[in-house]
Amino acid sequence: MNKKILMTPGPTMVPEEVLEINGRQPMHHRTQEFYELFSGLNLNLKKIFKTKMEVMTLTASGTGAMEASVANLFSKGDKVLFATIGHFGERFYDIAKIYGLDAELLDFGWGNAVDLNVLEDKLKDGDYKALFITQNETSTGVTNDIKAAAETAGKYSIPVIVDAVSSLGGIPLEMDKWGVDVVITCSQKCFMSPPGLSFISLSERAWGMAEKSTLPKYYFDLKKARKGVMKEKPDTPYTPAVSTIMAAKRATDMLLSLGLDNVYKRQEDFGKKVRDYIKDIGLQLFPEECIASNLISAIKVPEDISASDIINYILEKHNILITGGQGRLKGKIIRIGHMGYVTEEMLEKTLNALKEAVLKLKK
Ligand SMILES: *Cc1c(COP(=O)(O)O)cnc(C)c1O
Repeated sequence: MNKKILMTPGPTMVPEEVLEINGRQPMHHRTQEFYELFSGLNLNLKKIFKTKMEVMTLTASGTGAMEASVANLFSKGDKVLFATIGHFGERFYDIAKIYGLDAELLDFGWGNAVDLNVLEDKLKDGDYKALFITQNETSTGVTNDIKAAAETAGKYSIPVIVDAVSSLGGIPLEMDKWGVDVVITCSQKCFMSPPGLSFISLSERAWGMAEKSTLPKYYFDLKKARKGVMKEKPDTPYTPAVSTIMAAKRATDMLLSLGLDNVYKRQEDFGKKVRDYIKDIGLQLFPEECIASNLISAIKVPEDISASDIINYILEKHNILITGGQGRLKGKIIRIGHMGYVTEEMLEKTLNALKEAVLKLKK
């Protein structure tokens, strides 16, 4: 049988040469060898985040950096707004509630994008300490316009915290230019690396907020992490996932040598290709096409077929893993991830397998 292909929203496929590095003996993290590796990674991260600020590497999945942003910037009772469009936006809101923030949910509904006029009305009167927003809502296959959202929040001087976990390195995001205060991402989605790391960067304004924050933090103390990054011989406060750092350094080298603009273009092509294909075979996209993600496609499940039958068929017959819906979309949609290390060939195989599954399973 062919090697398994992950067409999921993460973990995503990892190129062979990155896998090879990941399989080497780990480096010790207090050695010259590691300092050089980590400086290299830090430089790559700044280029991908499009920021002059430090980017901190945490040994945790994306959710770890989300939690770190809450714990480091705020104090109990701070009033904040969550513009949500799906599962991951709601997860962020849940984290804020756990930490005792006065978190307000502005829910645009699963399958929609944030409506900027509605958002603006809310921000205008709200007196919020921050706006939290997801760039690419992986659960619904919808992308928000972060540039416009940051502009809107900027009118009212409200800091913007962006969950770019499934989008940074796949679609444009310019942290400094767009005036985004916190950007969060991780290793296992667009970064072509194994899971284990999350990455987070804070603007000057966000560091100012961190100075005032009184919420407890220890492992996720970003000031400690920043100190490590700023050293001449940069390191992390605790033992990091060294192997994943080794892998992520190589993978981000690859990403940057491909050229981010070329990657963005390739993702646009992939998104369009999937959308055209599913229309051709009589399936429907879950969100409206104008807000559809170029990184992950959410597709409505035809009424006479079950989502899990489609997923199982494609896995058993073709060794390709796609995923179903999360939360309230379970059973209603299937999702094909096409972010990170996806080739034309992998995508074509997946689409052909989907077509075959639908034909075979139709009653
Ligand atoms: C994957 C993902 C996360 C975090 O997931 P982890 O499993 O913790 O890495 C957060 N937000 C979005 C939009 C995601 O796609």
